[in-house]
Amino acid sequence: MRNILGVTLRGVEALPVEVEVEITGGLFAISIIGMPDVAVRESRERVRAALRYLGLNLKGRISVNLAPADIPKEGALLDLPIALGMLHATSMISECPKALYMGELALDGRLRRVRGAVPAAFLARELNIPLYVPVENAEEVALVKGVNAYCADSLSELVLMLKGEIEPRPVPPVYIPEMPENSEPDFADVKGQTQARRAAEIAAAGHHNLLLVGSPGSGKTLIAKALAGILPPLTDDELVETLLVRSTLGIETTTGRQRPFRTVHFTASTVSVCGGGNNLKPGEVSLAHRGVLFLDEYTEFKRDLTESLRGPIEDGQITVSRAAGTVTYPSRVLLVLAANPCACGYFGDPLIPCKCSSFDIERYRRKLSGPIIDRIDLQINVPRLTPEELLSFTDKNNPPESSAVIRERVIKARKIQQERWKEFGLVCNAELPEKLVKKFLTLSDEEHAYLVKMAEKFNLSGRGLSRVLKVSRTIADLAGEENINTKHLAEALMYRQVYGR
Ligand SMILES: [Zn+2]
Repeated sequence: MRNILGVTLRGVEALPVEVEVEITGGLFAISIIGMPDVAVRESRERVRAALRYLGLNLKGRISVNLAPADIPKEGALLDLPIALGMLHATSMISECPKALYMGELALDGRLRRVRGAVPAAFLARELNIPLYVPVENAEEVALVKGVNAYCADSLSELVLMLKGEIEPRPVPPVYIPEMPENSEPDFADVKGQTQARRAAEIAAAGHHNLLLVGSPGSGKTLIAKALAGILPPLTDDELVETLLVRSTLGIETTTGRQRPFRTVHFTASTVSVCGGGNNLKPGEVSLAHRGVLFLDEYTEFKRDLTESLRGPIEDGQITVSRAAGTVTYPSRVLLVLAANPCACGYFGDPLIPCKCSSFDIERYRRKLSGPIIDRIDLQINVPRLTPEELLSFTDKNNPPESSAVIRERVIKARKIQQERWKEFGLVCNAELPEKLVKKFLTLSDEEHAYLVKMAEKFNLSGRGLSRVLKVSRTIADLAGEENINTKHLAEALMYRQVYGR
């Protein structure tokens, strides 16, 4: 393998690209071979300008070969290694240490942020060679442990480093606080709604999907958003997983241990939600990996979009394919859906009468069914409070519990789960595959008989049953109890009686 290596991206994976430059006499021309796309051809102009800025006027026929030829390459990631290749071919630099180089060049030779620095860091670690990145990418690279990484502001700075005329500049270490900052809205702002608060806590503790059904103004969107503030902080491994996805898109990575919270509007395209498109980019469901994917006004979503979410929700990953190839992105999300109870929005409302016919209600209820709803562990009604109730909950001396207090309990319950499922590479109860549910979520005879009776009463499917067991496990973990008892089962069953089976 040659010394000057660049990278190209395939999903969240970086692949090495060997850069070889040859200069022969003749009329000036630059050709880049090795399946480059439009962006690589544009790179030719940027590299030429940046080199001119360094005082190098290219002459002759210059051929740049990017190998292997059969993988598609895209983006401006290759500017830097191509420029170094040219400097090397013109003897402007004699030695180029074997390393991965990535960076986009500005016309004046400054190095610009590129996407994919985190996957590149993994690759450099795997190949056991150094990585050189633009300063703007230094922080995310520093989050990957065990990488020998350096950064530079400009091509000229890097050249001086490579020549040994200045000290190499290692990426500075970053400090990530153990606990994310408190986020808004806070559960202290949610009045009443005891059941919804409890369901949100269980959802956060075990990473269980949540459906909130209530009239406009009942606060279901507020509750969904407040959920972000009670999620446990990302672990080191989870942080890197979320970084990988964001780095692939070139999104700023300064969110620390805060779990992602992504809201999808019902007009969103399937590609933007699930990923794909010409560049096989990750979608919202992958950006929400290890965090929350929130679908407000769920009944307004088109069926084909919700159908396409079924795989990623169930499998925790999504494979997107195009002519350019196939890539897999992670998508282990906590799905939160919010919906009105009926078409007019006021079915069951204490003040405003519902205008829907029983036929309308029946038709609407069908939208709140199907494969996605079946995968929602916690389903609850969020009633709108009457003005009297609102007032009664506005007691300054007895404010509702804050998100910080709830989060403490969530973190405790999550730690129990991490410890329990460690050997299987899992972090929370919701992730548990069927065979582990059967093996480990066992019940005593009495509890078993109770669950069988309830399953018949509520016509629960096999999958529904296993979801009840997982939620029961989380409820028991929140209570710090070793065994699932009838009380835990009864509460878990209560959250599955509304929609789906
Ligand atoms: Zn209605």
